[in-house]
Amino acid sequence: MLTSIIGYPRIGNLRELKFASEKYFRGEITPEKLEETAKEIRRYNRTIQKNNGLDFIPSNDFSFYDGVLDTAFMLNVVPQRYTALRLSALDTYFAAARGYQGENGDVKALAMKKWYNTNYHYMVPEIDDRTEIKLVGTKPFEFFLEAAEDGISTEPVVIGAYTFLKLARYTGEKTAKDFVDSIAAAYSELLRKFGELGTKWIQIDEPSLVMDMTAEDITLFVSLYEKILADKNGVKVLVQTYFGDVRDGYDQLCELDFDGIGLDFVEGKKSLELVKTKSFPKDKVLFAGVVNGKNIWRNNYAHTLDIVLELKQFAGNLVLNTSCSLLHVPCTLANETKLSESVKKHFAYAEEKLAELAELKAIFSLDHPAEAEEYCRNAALHSEPRINENREVRDKIAHLTDSDFFRQPEFKEREKIQKERFCLPLLPTTTIGSFPQTKEVKAARTALRKGELSQEDYEKFIKKKIKECVALQEEIGLDVFVHGEFERNDMVEYFGECLDGYIFTEKAWVQSYGTRCVKPPVIWGDIKRAKPMTVKWSVYAQSLTDKPMKGMLTGPVTILNWSFPREDISLKESAFQIALAIREEVLDLEANGIRIIQVDEAALREKLPLRRSDWREDYLDWAIKAFRYVHSGVRCETQIHTHMCYSEFSDIIKEIDDMDADVITFEASRSDLTILDVLQKNNFRTEVGPGVYDIHSPRIPSKEEIKAAIDKMVERIPVSKLWINPDCGLKTRGNEETVPSLKHLVGAAIEARAAIHSPSSTFGL
Ligand code: GLN
Ligand code: ZN
Repeated sequence: MLTSIIGYPRIGNLRELKFASEKYFRGEITPEKLEETAKEIRRYNRTIQKNNGLDFIPSNDFSFYDGVLDTAFMLNVVPQRYTALRLSALDTYFAAARGYQGENGDVKALAMKKWYNTNYHYMVPEIDDRTEIKLVGTKPFEFFLEAAEDGISTEPVVIGAYTFLKLARYTGEKTAKDFVDSIAAAYSELLRKFGELGTKWIQIDEPSLVMDMTAEDITLFVSLYEKILADKNGVKVLVQTYFGDVRDGYDQLCELDFDGIGLDFVEGKKSLELVKTKSFPKDKVLFAGVVNGKNIWRNNYAHTLDIVLELKQFAGNLVLNTSCSLLHVPCTLANETKLSESVKKHFAYAEEKLAELAELKAIFSLDHPAEAEEYCRNAALHSEPRINENREVRDKIAHLTDSDFFRQPEFKEREKIQKERFCLPLLPTTTIGSFPQTKEVKAARTALRKGELSQEDYEKFIKKKIKECVALQEEIGLDVFVHGEFERNDMVEYFGECLDGYIFTEKAWVQSYGTRCVKPPVIWGDIKRAKPMTVKWSVYAQSLTDKPMKGMLTGPVTILNWSFPREDISLKESAFQIALAIREEVLDLEANGIRIIQVDEAALREKLPLRRSDWREDYLDWAIKAFRYVHSGVRCETQIHTHMCYSEFSDIIKEIDDMDADVITFEASRSDLTILDVLQKNNFRTEVGPGVYDIHSPRIPSKEEIKAAIDKMVERIPVSKLWINPDCGLKTRGNEETVPSLKHLVGAAIEARAAIHSPSSTFGL
């Protein structure tokens, strides 16, 4: 039995790639220096995989920003607006990734979307009628040769043609099927070149196969691979799927001329059943994803052994694999110096998963695996009691009734009462919560952690920042204020630190998008609010102004989705436990005079099952309830806001309304405001603040640009329901761009108001 992984984290054990890239963006290092860092990371990754005895070592899983963007560049799918900048190849790539504003022009970044059900984000390729898909990139070959020079034979990884065409956005008349011939030719060419280089196996990632597939999708998939696999040039082709099962396309996968099929036995609810009922082709290798690529718990060998024994009856050729790329877990436990051994022994990050694969391989080659010492040690680990139970919390959750999920009075009545209470101007302006987390803010937190700054001085510093932030908002002229979230390292970690049941890591960074990484905390036991979490900051901020100050909390579903969850209780149970804790905080804020409370559900969509048929039952039913439980206890005049980091909720629009918030803000600027039509069509009830500019890019939107966005909104949404805000928190931005951007935002809102009030306006009030 051999071992394989689907991909390895590319940020570096200590986020070296992030820091080097950011230096490069600031013009502090040369492209050569950046490339050197990247090369070191790739070499380290290969070496560690080799040293752990991994049989299939991937290459081309490295990326400077995102693998889908790399594929787009490889296939010549680069919108003309980026090439027209006449920048170097690397800078053209970064312009598409991050937008560009400088001597050579002013363009926005490509749209960015969530990668299936993960917290990773990819850049959406844009295809127009003039796009000519052909193989132009050389990166996969270079990485393959780079590894070969080190004496390591690798398996190049590329995103597959089907997935690429499914993820792309078509801006002209043409659609996916118009590109079948050209993209198939490009992949054939790829195989031909790899054949010449003597590559044994290539891994083609097709995660879109785990989505619901229509008959048309199946046809598209089959027609692509009939062409691509017509001449493999001596290269064996593994088609790799992950994040679910391939129930719709399993038969075709088996029939096509693939040499290996990669299936996910962790998230794929039906993977095992498919193999058992439909069997598995004798002439193909089954790459069995049995080691969870998304969570940090040690593998349960007994459970894995059961699956492998079953699979062996159907597939003679089995490779032990991870369930998805290890991109979604942190790099190594080696840098976790503060966690106790009793905790660490339950964890496996990417590097430890390599060791697990090696151990599993060794055990499974024995006649009696269950007698192996490693197997017994693993069984003992998994039978250890480690969960701190909280009876009180469990009882409360067990006794929730329907009325706990209903806020009184109903929406319309609250809306009226709140309009009278707040007397806000039309098109009220606000921000999403955080203000720039400058070097100074981060340095203060580091100093506190290192003991160089006392708790008291740290708090003084935060108060000073809040005061500045309030003054700045007064100066800019916003209507509803925020305190700026300077006390927060991260919108989930901060809350986790105030909750019993959480464990924190030091270096468990995972890439979220580009150079942005997150460090998800770990849910270890039952969750309970240990102390007030935000009250003193919000109350202090409110004391500085008469404008309403939004209390700022992270919602239960997002906290859960951005943590490494427990595997011993259901996600629903964990979500309700967190909801109870946030509810207590909401009531505390209200009791302390905070009139507007925002509960961010930035990641609500994140864990939405990939298949529609699973949405309600497996997820939405409890996720929406958890949110409703958070705010069902507040008074009618308290306004509840929520925020989501994307606009893709056309398909769950009813459920979003069903969260029963009073106001929702969300990302809209990157997706051409198409969401507005959906809101209009559905008579969306909740008041809305569709982001009027993109905060993920450093470019400063002009007042005219924002005004144009507002005009579009006003056409489709009743003005009485519209809010004006950026599309997300400002923490990743600098003050240089934030202040002018917000001034433009307020200026645009003022102009829009005037236009509405003018006698010629068609927008009756
Ligand atoms: N309130 C948070 C902030 O402004 C929301 C962040 C987010 O949606 N990712 O930072
Ligand atoms: Zn956001």
